[in-house]
Amino acid sequence: MVKAAVQVEAGRLEIWDLPAPGRGTAGALIRIEGCGMCGSDLESFRGAIVLAGLGSYPYVPGHEPVGRIEWIDPEMAERSEVSEGDRVAVEPFVPCGVCRHCTEGEYRLCRRRFIYSLASVHISPGLWGGFAQFMALRPGSILHRVPESVPIEDAVLFNPLGAGFEWAYRAAATRPGDQVAILGAGQRGLAAVIAVREAGADQVIVTGLSRDRHKLDLARALGATHTLVADEEPVVERIRELTGGPGADRVIDVTSNAPEAVAQAVGAARPGGTVVLAGLKDRHPVPGLVSDDIVYKNLTVKGVLGVSAWSFAQAIRIIASGRYPLHLLHTHTLKLDQLEQGLRLLAGQVEGETAVHITVVPG
Ligand SMILES: [Zn+2]
Ligand SMILES: [Zn+2]
Repeated sequence: MVKAAVQVEAGRLEIWDLPAPGRGTAGALIRIEGCGMCGSDLESFRGAIVLAGLGSYPYVPGHEPVGRIEWIDPEMAERSEVSEGDRVAVEPFVPCGVCRHCTEGEYRLCRRRFIYSLASVHISPGLWGGFAQFMALRPGSILHRVPESVPIEDAVLFNPLGAGFEWAYRAAATRPGDQVAILGAGQRGLAAVIAVREAGADQVIVTGLSRDRHKLDLARALGATHTLVADEEPVVERIRELTGGPGADRVIDVTSNAPEAVAQAVGAARPGGTVVLAGLKDRHPVPGLVSDDIVYKNLTVKGVLGVSAWSFAQAIRIIASGRYPLHLLHTHTLKLDQLEQGLRLLAGQVEGETAVHITVVPG
């Protein structure tokens, strides 16, 4: 039997024993070494993701898994260029490969994609998430080999760091010498700092709330040149001052549930600049947005969803390089039955304790 955390309904997690999938029941089986935890696990726990039509109960959550291949279908092994015993990170989407989006290279938008961490346990063999001792893989999964030398707590950062590369480097088209403003200092914001440093950005300004000062300290440790406290300083004016007047070349919004940040991003971008919107606002409209500013400033405004294989590969390369003090991001290692404690930590509900990135090690 395999121990797995199961989201039974909104707000209710249980530990279940599920039958260990034998050879042939899926494309592959990995023994989970660790699985990262992030803000979307909190949304998943509260039920927002199923409400959005993206999954069905009961399911095994956990979408940032790193594990070792226990067994693999020979054809999948050949196509994925991996073998039994390899240590791999698993991308969250399994694209169909043949729909219009897939064939045009936008596989993250695939209409028939399978999403790990949200698929019901009733879809055999049921272990479709990383918060379990083992996870089943579909044949079309996109896998990335993880070097043996990387500590598991660093390895599971492939997911947030991949997002940093996708959004702040690739989508924003950040260039050497750019002045970049990153709104939000959570995992995604900190990952964006590393990504724009790698792009050669000259000035990196990060905003965060006064209650998250420790995250602003981390942003500076990772290479941010300036940090701003968004609930104490006028963010747009300060970014204009720091960039010498016109605003930032690239503004990346990774704040969650802060619709006002969108208007700030437009205000803080220089004429001809690029604004990337990655933080969800729970469907709230944006107060104070003057769309004429987008026109007059000739701005490019991009929404981004998901992460490409290229960006995941960059993330793993940078993690393996050891060039950044990633251990600073890692605050907790928890066991499977401590998942709810991890969610409370991420929600800021544990008195006197702050969390940035949590790794769940099922053992
Ligand atoms: Zn995540
Ligand atoms: Zn497709």
